[in-house]
Amino acid sequence: MTPTIASRVARLNPRQQEAVRYIDGPCLVLAGAGSGKTSVITTKIAYLVQECGMSARRIAAVTFTNKAAREMKERVGEMLKGKEGHGLTVSTFHTLGLNIIRGELKTLGYKPGFSLFDPEDAKALLRDLMNKDAQVDAEQINAVQHQISQWKNDLVLPGQALSHAANDDEHYAARVYEAYVRHLKAYNAVDFDDLILLPVVLLRDDPEVLARWRRKIHYMLVDEYQDTNVSQYLLVKLLMGERSTFTVVGDDDQSIYAWRGARPENLVTLGEDFPRLKVIKLEQNYRSTGTILRAANTLIANNPHVYEKSLWSEMGQGAPIRVVVNRHEEAEAERVASEILTRRIKERSEWRDFAVLYRGNFQARLLELKLQHYQIPYKLSGGTSFFSRNEIKDAMAYLRLLINPADDNAFLRIVNVPRREIGPGTLEKLANYATDRGGSLFAACHELGLEQQLPARAVERLGRFTHFIDGVRRRMDGGDAIAAIRDMLREMDYEAWLYQNASAPTIAERRMANVWTLIDQLEKSMNREPEEDASVEAGETDDVEAAISRLVLRDILEQQAEEDDTDKVQLLTMHASKGLEFPHVYLMGLEEELLPHRNAIEAGTVEEERRLAYVGITRARRTLTLTLARQRKAYGELMDCVPSRFLDELPSDDLEWEGRADKEDPEKKQARGQDAIAGLRSLLG
Ligand code: ATP
Ligand code: MG
Repeated sequence: MTPTIASRVARLNPRQQEAVRYIDGPCLVLAGAGSGKTSVITTKIAYLVQECGMSARRIAAVTFTNKAAREMKERVGEMLKGKEGHGLTVSTFHTLGLNIIRGELKTLGYKPGFSLFDPEDAKALLRDLMNKDAQVDAEQINAVQHQISQWKNDLVLPGQALSHAANDDEHYAARVYEAYVRHLKAYNAVDFDDLILLPVVLLRDDPEVLARWRRKIHYMLVDEYQDTNVSQYLLVKLLMGERSTFTVVGDDDQSIYAWRGARPENLVTLGEDFPRLKVIKLEQNYRSTGTILRAANTLIANNPHVYEKSLWSEMGQGAPIRVVVNRHEEAEAERVASEILTRRIKERSEWRDFAVLYRGNFQARLLELKLQHYQIPYKLSGGTSFFSRNEIKDAMAYLRLLINPADDNAFLRIVNVPRREIGPGTLEKLANYATDRGGSLFAACHELGLEQQLPARAVERLGRFTHFIDGVRRRMDGGDAIAAIRDMLREMDYEAWLYQNASAPTIAERRMANVWTLIDQLEKSMNREPEEDASVEAGETDDVEAAISRLVLRDILEQQAEEDDTDKVQLLTMHASKGLEFPHVYLMGLEEELLPHRNAIEAGTVEEERRLAYVGITRARRTLTLTLARQRKAYGELMDCVPSRFLDELPSDDLEWEGRADKEDPEKKQARGQDAIAGLRSLLG
């Protein structure tokens, strides 16, 4: 029998219960890792529905990654049965924003079927805009893109950016920002940051819209609150308003997204903006052994704190933390893979009990090879995702063009895929013509005047292409959209094109299978029952446009597409591991310049790296193994590595070293490490 909500709440500790039961005003749960913050959120959702009689469709719970949202959905799904959970929103901030935009398209001045630009699309647009003035390089484009993203996260609009620009660079970026926003609008497109920015500006400036959304959402819950940026904070604040019925949970020690505009000060701002804020602290950790917890606490004590916390655990001391030193990076990967293989058998674990965490995705490459060598099943999160494959990008471009013919990036990507003999010269003339007319490339193909600009054959080829796309669009409007899309892929013989371009038939076969998987996904996401779909606002039927927008969003979030809970070793970056837990954790690459990362050392942001290490360590429930290499390839050369300073910050009595050079006295070695660090520091100024 499934336990009742009352008994679930009763199982929580008194502070957690208090947090669940407090529903009259704003509530902040501030607590360290593994103390049951997410558990408070999931239980509270069920409590609000079952005990307080609140309709699930009036509740919105948000978090940061798709993976975390999925986990939360699962946990809530176990508690709410049948219709109870109908219309509940459990999603990422960006999905919530997307839903608001979709509901307010007209007010925002967008046409239906708008496009969502991923960072690559956005970059292409910026490149065009910036190259108009002078030839610019990739680094300049990246810098401007980053600056624009910061502005958007901080809710700075182009006009404000211009008037506040402090130097020439900022002034230039602000001008590009202004043009960029204008062009996005003309393309009927939004970028990733707009998913938060547009709803916030709209809710702030339009009382009617605000009232509408306040009627829709009565209670909000936010997980990982420390990573909200200014815009996200305002979104919550605007939606909740005077009523201020929300619960947010967070841990300032786990703030790891400052580089993306996160403002851990939002924890403090909350207290100022909502004087009635009830702050609840949790101190018992239910996840990790005493040894792992002590390591985490000792490490993070080296950082300054917004709020002091002290975590304790009743899980027993557990095994010491192993630190394994390897000759080089390949030996490190080999060691991790072979150990998991033997431990699984010896300790009778499952593959999924093991997680390997690292600082950067590139570290996974060697490990993947070793895991494949031992035939160990694994799942890589992030990294080269399904969506970054060329065939998927092609198919996505077709989908985007079908829902929004004004999407020039999509047009350019596939106008010649498969080959249609439309050369770059033709496209350039077409682009000039479209710019003169102030319309899209696709629209320009339909203009009669084009015949004066291009040879008849080129016009005919373009015409054939747009005619083809128009036909598919008509079929989609007329009924079975998915069948129309499948037929389109067959009619243009995309498969033949894949075979022509692949080095082996099996590769082409796999690529085509990927495309069909994508279309299947699309179909599934259109056909699912509303109850199952917690990310869609209730009451909206899901059309192909919505389904495609969501696919694009998923793509951008760079999460694994398939919901894959089979038995596999988990490989993920420390950033992606937030909120998750595993019985056995390997943390790789505990070396200076890797963790803490070289850029952070240079920028003086080692504290954020320490929080990242804290996040990594606190994912472990029973055992933690830290690995490092003595030598590693960097910039094509084999470099000597210095052990991470974080190793020195852990309680040395709890560490069990392996593979440390025997002859060397540990103290001397440490001194050498310190010298190297000091040398490095002076080198970096
Ligand atoms: P993080 O900061 O890493 O996100 P968290 O504070 O969100 O951690 P949870 O993931 O909610 O912590 O909980 C950690 C573990 O402790 C989970 O396995 C959860 O089931 C368990 N747990 C939480 N509260 C209790 C409790 N009162 N009794 C027993 N187990 C609990
Ligand atoms: Mg959590």
